[in-house]
Amino acid sequence: MKPIYLDYAATTPVDLRVITAMMQCLGVDGVFGNPASSHFYGQEAVQKVDMARQQVASLINAESREIVWTSGATESNNLAIQGVANFYQNRGKHIITMKTEHKAVLDVCRFLEKRGFEVSYLAPNKDGLLELEGLKKALRPDTLLVSIMYVNNETGVIQPIEQIAEIVKANGSFLHVDAAQALGKLPINLQKLAVDLMSFSAHKIYGPKGVGALFVRRRPVVRLQALIHGGGHENGLRSGTLATHQLVGMGEACAILQENMSKEVAYIQRLKDSFWQKIQHLSGVGRNSDIAHAACHILNVYFPGIDSDLLMKALPQLAMSAGSACTSLVVEPSHVLQAMGISDALAHSSLRFSFGRYTTQADIDLASDLLSDACKKFV
Ligand SMILES: *Cc1c(COP(=O)(O)O)cnc(C)c1O
Repeated sequence: MKPIYLDYAATTPVDLRVITAMMQCLGVDGVFGNPASSHFYGQEAVQKVDMARQQVASLINAESREIVWTSGATESNNLAIQGVANFYQNRGKHIITMKTEHKAVLDVCRFLEKRGFEVSYLAPNKDGLLELEGLKKALRPDTLLVSIMYVNNETGVIQPIEQIAEIVKANGSFLHVDAAQALGKLPINLQKLAVDLMSFSAHKIYGPKGVGALFVRRRPVVRLQALIHGGGHENGLRSGTLATHQLVGMGEACAILQENMSKEVAYIQRLKDSFWQKIQHLSGVGRNSDIAHAACHILNVYFPGIDSDLLMKALPQLAMSAGSACTSLVVEPSHVLQAMGISDALAHSSLRFSFGRYTTQADIDLASDLLSDACKKFV
């Protein structure tokens, strides 16, 4: 038997409805044409791509023409941050972000520092939240861009993006938001939310890996310098033959969420609450994020005195994550927990459990029993 999957924040399986839609865009009897071709096969593919773009736009209340296809949230973050930095560098060379961002934002900022940009890395408060007063103080006349994630991938902490947007726009700076963990968990309305650029990934929402999108506001327009040149696809912002099956997969994943999101969020929240209820009696256990500010699917907990890697090894029946998946090759305490002021010792005894569409109450019951037994063996 395979372990119980409790790592939906790392990736999700592809929904069967998504797989079906994708398969129709691959074979000789399907819509396999190049969307850049003017003949029947190409135009058939264009229709599929247009529909997928509409499905993504619709879920976030944006316009179709504001969606740029990418290979995932990593590329979206790169295109947004480097794209603005390169296009507008004469306006100012200061960027603000947070210490708790995903590496796909932090590493881009580090790269830009080597290219003459200055970056302020703001620390969160102990709940993982950005302090708005701190943001106001950090903003300068030459602040070109602010990049703040919506939902943290390790802790589930939700940033107050609406208020952040007000402050950033009042300063005349651009705002980019990495929303890879927010899509499908929080309602996103870009007609109302004054965000200029927003990154998304399909494989966090039951779509395929290797595809994502960047929302680029058209009113008022945000210009970007492309990262990938060759052919002028996506209005010159991202060249390369459009991967019809991938885009259709992301579109279908969004359409499913458009129908079911509120029910699904309530279901996942119930599972998470139930899991916490069943493990909270364990000795010394605590949550690394305030439940009031966390998304439905992520629970990050510490087990004092227990090394999380050893705990994971003692629990081969469960699949969860110590730190974030992207950094777990390196044995360093999570930079997110560190920035929140959590001690290295507690960070090294923390695990991230994340739940999703295919998690059942039976999974929760069994997983919490196994976890309780394993913890008792350590103390
Ligand atoms: C998963 C994730 C990414 C990276 O997305 P890819 O599509 O895998 O490149 C970026 N940011 C956050 C917050 C994520 O959770």
